[in-house]
Amino acid sequence: MTTTAEEPGVATKSGKFVYLFGDGRSDGHHDLRNLLGGKGAGLAEMSSLGIPVPPGFTITTEVCNAYYGLGRSYPPQLEAQVRDGFAHVERIVGARFGDPENPLLISVRSGARVSMPGMMDTILNLGLNDATAEGLARRSGSDRFAYDSYRRFVQMYGDVVLGIARDEETDTDPFEQLLAAKKRERGVEDDTGLDGAALRELVGEFKQLIADRGKEFPDDPWDQLWGAVGAVFDSWENPRAVVYRDQYGYPSTWGTAVNVQAMVFGNLGEDCATGVLFTRHPSTGDASLFGEFLVNAQGEDVVAGTRTPQPILAVDRAPGAPPSLEEAMPQVYEELALACDRLERHFRDMQDIEFTVQQGKLWILQTRNGKRAGRAMLRIAVDLVDEGHLSEREAVGRLDPEQLDELLHPVFEEGSERDVIARGLAASPGAAVGKVVFRPIDVVELRKRGEDAILVRDETSPEDIEGMVDARGILTARGGMTSHAAVVARGMGKCCITGCAALQIDYAGRQFSVRREDGSTITVNEGDTISLDGTTGEVMLGGLPLADGEFPPEFDRVMEWVDAARRMKVRANADTPEDAERARSFGAEGIGLCRTEHMFFGADRILAVRQMILAEDAPARRDALAKILPMQREDFVGILRAMAPYPVTIRLLDPPLHEFLPHEQEEIEELAESLRATPAQIQRRVEGLREQNPMLGHRGVRLGVTSPEIYETQVRAIIEAACQLGEEGLEVAPEIMIPLVGMPEELRLLRERTTAVAEQVMTECGARVGYTIGTMIELPRACIVADQIAVHADFFSFGTNDLTQTAFGLSRDDAGRFLPSYIEQHLIERDPFVVLDREGVGGLIQIGIERGKATRRDLKIGICGEHGGNPASIEFCEQNGFDYVSCSPYRVPIARLAAAQATLREGLRPA
Ligand code: PEP
Ligand code: MG
Repeated sequence: MTTTAEEPGVATKSGKFVYLFGDGRSDGHHDLRNLLGGKGAGLAEMSSLGIPVPPGFTITTEVCNAYYGLGRSYPPQLEAQVRDGFAHVERIVGARFGDPENPLLISVRSGARVSMPGMMDTILNLGLNDATAEGLARRSGSDRFAYDSYRRFVQMYGDVVLGIARDEETDTDPFEQLLAAKKRERGVEDDTGLDGAALRELVGEFKQLIADRGKEFPDDPWDQLWGAVGAVFDSWENPRAVVYRDQYGYPSTWGTAVNVQAMVFGNLGEDCATGVLFTRHPSTGDASLFGEFLVNAQGEDVVAGTRTPQPILAVDRAPGAPPSLEEAMPQVYEELALACDRLERHFRDMQDIEFTVQQGKLWILQTRNGKRAGRAMLRIAVDLVDEGHLSEREAVGRLDPEQLDELLHPVFEEGSERDVIARGLAASPGAAVGKVVFRPIDVVELRKRGEDAILVRDETSPEDIEGMVDARGILTARGGMTSHAAVVARGMGKCCITGCAALQIDYAGRQFSVRREDGSTITVNEGDTISLDGTTGEVMLGGLPLADGEFPPEFDRVMEWVDAARRMKVRANADTPEDAERARSFGAEGIGLCRTEHMFFGADRILAVRQMILAEDAPARRDALAKILPMQREDFVGILRAMAPYPVTIRLLDPPLHEFLPHEQEEIEELAESLRATPAQIQRRVEGLREQNPMLGHRGVRLGVTSPEIYETQVRAIIEAACQLGEEGLEVAPEIMIPLVGMPEELRLLRERTTAVAEQVMTECGARVGYTIGTMIELPRACIVADQIAVHADFFSFGTNDLTQTAFGLSRDDAGRFLPSYIEQHLIERDPFVVLDREGVGGLIQIGIERGKATRRDLKIGICGEHGGNPASIEFCEQNGFDYVSCSPYRVPIARLAAAQATLREGLRPA
């Protein structure tokens, strides 16, 4: 089923599986990102631009899909194309793969069309064995370098390709244990303190470890290559990648590309380095380079967070810390800054760049549009427009609607007392309060119980993704601003503090301790509540009070562009004046669904509602309703006033009446007394109203048909409220909506009754107000007979929650038990209650609109199911000519942006 805006990269049938790049030319370019992945497309583009990238080639995402299609094996044409790719790289580098005299070493990296930081696998230094390692040592003149590369390769290969797992009990990597033991044995602190001989021993120990686990390390570089390529493809379906895709709604059919590239070395000595940087600050959006590097290291050292790196700019260096890149390697820095500027101008967006310096020469390994916090997203968009790189419309097209959500995330109340116990790096802004836990699995457990967790780790790794998704906030002792924790948290808009060096974590004891600034030590146990301020980097004991977040200064300006580009209106689903006000402050242009049942639960009226439901006859029911009427009128006065002059769609009562009845003994007794009945009698009547299938039972318009007084009272309350406000001079526009209509006759009857009451009320009040009558379309039958229903309707509002439920025959309350299994097994890509099922439910909607409009060309069309706040579903609404979408107040800005983007994509002019 089609549930996403974009289709997966469909096979080109060209049979071209391998795209070369390097030496100032390339087969691919940036627009081929679906085929080459983001990394491959970026490398191709950079190579054509003359940016120094190590030569290589990209195996396409089509091959990934073919690999899975063939039961995890390669299409036969691949090998020859890969061999040609090697010939290309060998020619440029002047070394040969597997040649003991002059070996070519390569990296094998994943690269999906969007960046999925650390979720998939990478293998570096591939091509080393005992013979080529010797050759490398001779040619480089450094035993240490050759065997450091070799031990890294065996370690990575063992982990990624051969699956040598972490030690469950101690939660440590067995290779790291051997490395630590070797450092102890040689009495050195840092990896860089180990000499060639020690590293050579370590290679032997690593291989022994692999053999002890029953695995074989391949010596033949070609075997190594195919093992690595397969591992990268396999990593597309590893649990962390799957969780990450679910989180962002990326379909599995995208697949990953594989990039095979000549190695360049940042670990060849003190004139070597490796680093990552953003061309603008990823948290604040400030227009200056921001990043980190390590001298004499390989790329994974920076992101792994095991060594705390140094900043790129001198101004970012803490007093007493080692020099920044700007100070340590000024020429490289100049060249890097120029490359950054070129890349940012070329891609017209903030770039996230990986680089390596080998013996003073700069190489760019990767560029991609950088992940940024929501605040930074707006700031960068405004700056890029002001700097003349983007038009306003282009800037709108590039924003991520979901990221607006985090701008509304809570902040700590101003002026609240802070017991700061430690400070780290403000890696991802926001405020978080929760219970301390140390293992990702415990976050998931707490979440299941509805509790908030703060995940505290030395550093995070991609395996931790599930816990990171569920955590309120993340706190790590190690790692910089570009560590895994920082990058992933920023992408998710989640509060995160990294590099909090004062933290001493005792995983076994399930506690951490911090030395406070006054010299005392404090211990925090699992389950204790702490607060994180991701904007300042402060860690506080206890739970600080939270307040609503505020939009940054750029918000209004960006939303002006958004609204100028948008065709559809955006309304909110709101049931109270407060919600209506909030929705308006977020830019709602009306209420698309006011669910009146929520008003019935008010403490001051539930008893009257129950009396009404259990009334023996119509007069008794009218008595009870007479008590409800004034309260209901006040509700509508409040809501219509808050939304004036925008329209407010008020849905008459929808749920089965049984939902309002008491279950607790005390409540039953209270009701019995008020009705002069015994509790047992009440109990029996409550039981008598129970239904086998309430969702398909006595609800919606069916209540209106059988108990006309309920809807009559509600209509009276609406029109009286409108008359009252009209007298005050306010322009109000109530739209009365009848739910769950499946038969035209139902709506004919209800329209007649509604009109009669409205006319009568207006006569009584001596006033006239404009109002319309329409229906929700929530049943497949309603879509099919929409032409007949439209005879009686001024508007259709698609209730896609129920329409999804009734179209699939899938209970919205029970689907959670089995839908995940459907998604896991790829029977469907996305939960259809979240992302509209375009083919089935969407098909019904299209029929409904077409037939409804055939009767009434001016029929107003809206959506008020949860899908009204989902960008992919909003796109569907745009394509099908909806007048408006309606969603929860907090999603209104997201829907405004998504609607604007959909208009721009459709190439439509806003009305
Ligand atoms: C719907 O069914 O889509 C809808 C908005 O109504 P409710 O969720 O209240 O059933
Ligand atoms: Mg419904």
